[in-house]
Amino acid sequence: MTDETATLQHHRIGILEGDGIGREIVPATRTVVDAAVAAAGGVAVDWVPLPIGAAAIDSHGTPLPEETLESLAGLDAWILGPHDSASYPPQFRGELTPGGRIRKHFDLYANIRPACALPGAPSVSPEMDLVVVRENTEGFYADRNMAVGSGEFMPTPDIALAVGVVTRAACERIAHTAFDLASRRRKRVTIVHKANVLSHTTGLFRDVCEEVGRLYPSVTVDDRHVDAMAALLVRRGEEFDVVVTENMFGDILSDLAAELSGSLGTAASINASRTKAMAQAAHGAAPDIAGLGRANPVALILSAAMLLDRLGARVDSHFTAAARIIEDAVRATIAAGTATADLGGTASTAEFTAGVVARLGA
Ligand code: ATP
Repeated sequence: MTDETATLQHHRIGILEGDGIGREIVPATRTVVDAAVAAAGGVAVDWVPLPIGAAAIDSHGTPLPEETLESLAGLDAWILGPHDSASYPPQFRGELTPGGRIRKHFDLYANIRPACALPGAPSVSPEMDLVVVRENTEGFYADRNMAVGSGEFMPTPDIALAVGVVTRAACERIAHTAFDLASRRRKRVTIVHKANVLSHTTGLFRDVCEEVGRLYPSVTVDDRHVDAMAALLVRRGEEFDVVVTENMFGDILSDLAAELSGSLGTAASINASRTKAMAQAAHGAAPDIAGLGRANPVALILSAAMLLDRLGARVDSHFTAAARIIEDAVRATIAAGTATADLGGTASTAEFTAGVVARLGA
């Protein structure tokens, strides 16, 4: 360690490449984060590479080795590349995906997904700038809403049932995430539910969010039925700031908002608890373009910026500066006409990444 790096505050961040284009966009993201952190000064990242996905099946006989989970337990932040679990050997296909298992194991209850147009990139809603805060642990998601067994079952071959779970505790913590976030943004939270039909479950969600909202008097609150919200996002999505909702509604609305504001290649997200956060692009492993050098790294780079932003609030404010530097450089690169093929450009993953690095701190 040189004298200069010895004076920096070092922070360990996990890095898990995953499958398909993960092998391209994860290294690209690491390059951008290293350069941004160096530009911000004061801090340095010590990367902790961990095995996952197809490579982990080869090396450890499982897509999510115990040693990966044990190492993540000692970290508060990591970057996860996409996984292509459909390509794994049959014995691994029935189980929860590696990302899903990590989310459940560490109770990463908040899926935070911004939908913000990037000037120069194609966008149906160029004025949109909102964040969907999705409850990630219960609702109707059969793979995660039970301690044991599945929330979906068939008493006879012709009858299928699904159990929805909504608890006050889970509503409270996701509501705090949403109102905290809104108080640092445009100070408006929209609670999305379907209490006219699912009056006990999504009604509880709405009521608890409203109760928590009363603790944040500076934040304006309204609520919408999910069907009306889908229409409003298309018609006047630019009016919304933070949208808080239960698991399945959030899954669907966040995809809708991301697609209206940009595209799969630009849709960032983190999954977080109070103490841990995982940056994970909303898109999959894109096996159709893997290895071709055409993948758009923007979604993962912006997810990593969200991760740094959290570290800025908890560990050292230089990380917040690094996050802003990354966001500005990504915007400036796309606005200057450098973009990958999915955004209508001709840049390779490496060329786009070099364009971002060249603009860091500019
Ligand atoms: P999953 O079910 O794992 O989310 P999927 O097959 O539904 O995966 P993706 O892997 O996200 O979806 O790919 C959908 C389409 O979008 C593919 O044609 C893919 O090439 C494209 N795509 C996804 N991510 C990117 C990216 N970062 N850059 C360029 N194209 C992408």
